[in-house]
Amino acid sequence: MMIVMKESATEEEVQSVIDRNEEVGARAHPSRGEEVTVIGAIGDREHVMRLGLEGAPGVEQVVPILKPYKLASAQIRPNEPSVIEIEGRRIGGDHFSMIAGPCTVESRDQTLGTARTVKAAGGSLFRGGAYKPRTSPYAFQGLGQEGLRLLAEARAETGLPVVTECMDARDLEPVLEVADVIQIGARNMQNYPLLAEIGRSGRPALLKRGASATLEELLMAAEYILKEGNPNVLLCERGIRTFETAYRFTLDLTAIPVLKELSHLPVIVDPSHAAGRRDLVTPLSLAAAAAGADGIIVEVHPAPEEAICDGPQQLYADDFALFAQKVEQAAAVAGKVLSAV
Ligand code: PEP
Ligand code: MN
Repeated sequence: MMIVMKESATEEEVQSVIDRNEEVGARAHPSRGEEVTVIGAIGDREHVMRLGLEGAPGVEQVVPILKPYKLASAQIRPNEPSVIEIEGRRIGGDHFSMIAGPCTVESRDQTLGTARTVKAAGGSLFRGGAYKPRTSPYAFQGLGQEGLRLLAEARAETGLPVVTECMDARDLEPVLEVADVIQIGARNMQNYPLLAEIGRSGRPALLKRGASATLEELLMAAEYILKEGNPNVLLCERGIRTFETAYRFTLDLTAIPVLKELSHLPVIVDPSHAAGRRDLVTPLSLAAAAAGADGIIVEVHPAPEEAICDGPQQLYADDFALFAQKVEQAAAVAGKVLSAV
């Protein structure tokens, strides 16, 4: 259920509604908007209804949330997209984020060099995988803890917040030491225990859409994180599997406006994994930015031909500044301004 408070509601009245929900075993998720506070009450609907909150001090109305995903639904924050703040960078609303970095952390030079390039070009956040989900168990699986250490060094030197993947809840503790945003890979979108654990950590999460997942499944996965009291979820479209074989995945650009209609959560687009080809990364990024994406996450490498993984899709670090400039212009078309520090 959704409890909409009056504009004049006091903090005590909000707290009283939260307490009363919790007394009947429902979890209350307040969302404090510019004008009104809305409280999502997740639990037994009958119990919440029996509280008779309609008419209670400060309460405007009590309405059911119609979608199966509750906290992720746009209904809970009417006309108010979530803006997530990461070390002074804003993601969502009128802000555009440029998240860039190598597919995987390979070495100190490669990681720090790329981080400097991203920073110099005005990037918002730095990405890089220490734990890599690879299709082949024989392929390079990432540097693990050593990779995290190099990411921490890049973060300390450039000041760029770090986005890195956690594939297994057993690695969460070390990942939390460096990750400003935890990436949940497409293959793990429906790993519910992992989602819940990341939810409990409270750390912002970038949730990638599974290659065969519907938007409703993506939003239900986001709900697993939100339900644990972590409101900081970024949705990421990274290409879906279709009958087309000319490129790796089909980037679902329609998902951008549709996710924004269904949810208040920011939408990030990954043009690199969708295309699998460097020459497609620029047009897809421009299209995503112009279509209203809240940011892109793109792979960049100083020497992609030597990259351990995803070489063919990584942008040359030398080309990144020009690329970033073009994407920033496309984002402006959609009314967004690059958020960097
Ligand atoms: C990645 O971002 O490096 C990655 C493996 O992406 P995805 O989970 O979308 O395949
Ligand atoms: Mn990759």
